[in-house]
Amino acid sequence: MRAAREYRSNPFVPGLAGRIEALVEETPPDAVGLSLNYLSQALGAFALIGFIRDRFPRIAVVLGGGLVTSWLGRTGGRNPFAGLVDHCVAGPGEGFLLGLAGVSADGEPFARPDYSGFPAGGYLSPGPVLPYSASSGCHWRRCTFCPERAEGQCFRPVPEEQVLSDLRALASGMRPSLIHFLDSTMSPRLLEHLARRSPGVPWYGFTRVSPLLGDKDFCHALRASGCVMLKLGLESGDQGVLDALEKGIQVDEASRALRALNGAGIGTYVYLLFGTPAENAESARRTLAFTAEHGGLIDYLNLAVFNLPADSEEAGRLKIRPFYEGDLSLYADFEHPGNWGRRPVRDFLDREFRRHPAIAPIVRRQPPFFTSNHAPFFLNFC
Ligand code: SF4
Repeated sequence: MRAAREYRSNPFVPGLAGRIEALVEETPPDAVGLSLNYLSQALGAFALIGFIRDRFPRIAVVLGGGLVTSWLGRTGGRNPFAGLVDHCVAGPGEGFLLGLAGVSADGEPFARPDYSGFPAGGYLSPGPVLPYSASSGCHWRRCTFCPERAEGQCFRPVPEEQVLSDLRALASGMRPSLIHFLDSTMSPRLLEHLARRSPGVPWYGFTRVSPLLGDKDFCHALRASGCVMLKLGLESGDQGVLDALEKGIQVDEASRALRALNGAGIGTYVYLLFGTPAENAESARRTLAFTAEHGGLIDYLNLAVFNLPADSEEAGRLKIRPFYEGDLSLYADFEHPGNWGRRPVRDFLDREFRRHPAIAPIVRRQPPFFTSNHAPFFLNFC
């Protein structure tokens, strides 16, 4: 709320104000929608809202996106920014926006996105990237640390046939170098469909380690369909930790998947999570051993320190404290039951994990700034 009040001191506003004024003059809108997905965007978004409120008081402000959906889950759907934001929308906003414009959304549950108004060539990227969500929510939704479980969002897949027709239609206009599937995790059903019918453009996305990925023939079919990289939330190389997190992954299954993907020429971006309540120094070292053993099969690594979702079941079992007062974050700080808190975890990562000779080259390979978003471009798939 303060960022909105003091918008003039926000460094983004001077850069965007002129553009917004020109757009409003060109096509005066009744409403302006902002999509807010990450906490790092919140101050910028609220400063823009403050600017719009001040400069165009008659335009309605609509706020949606992943972060807003999570906040509304905590307020029982009540708009926490009443007086500043006219409408806060949880979940997919298409229906709400159509309703606001007096148009019925009936019969069109999955509208095809339209990127024609966006300057796709203006990004710092070796080629245009087409973003596409083939689902919302997660078909697994069991991992104890994940907001997907804590918030209980339903899994809503776009019908596979529509995914293909959407992608082909969007690609014919945009001519992308790459498709980025934005799904929390691409379902096995979607992967099987893509393995049978290529979208015709190289693609990558997030998925779970599953027995399907240990199948060499399947991985070759995926590669033939254009899959250049998969991001895998492995989290740990210790079976006890994986079971406690309810990841539904077996360590040997992960090993087979890494081999099969590498053998098929599909890059891997492996996500590891340290400092979970079930982990201790010993299990973290088992993750180190697993990573080092499979170092030749892993192209990129993301090393994260565990954040406890504030509304999770685990938060009820642990001694928690807010990260800082007035926090709008979705996470809480907690006392680790095994004294494996953020500080020892960070020390372990800096002094042991990142320095291991089989792991250091993978860490160094990470594209600066854009990390996983640019990683597929370095995999020589052209
Ligand atoms: S598979 Fe991924 S998105 Fe789904 S619940 Fe687990 S961590 Fe969350």
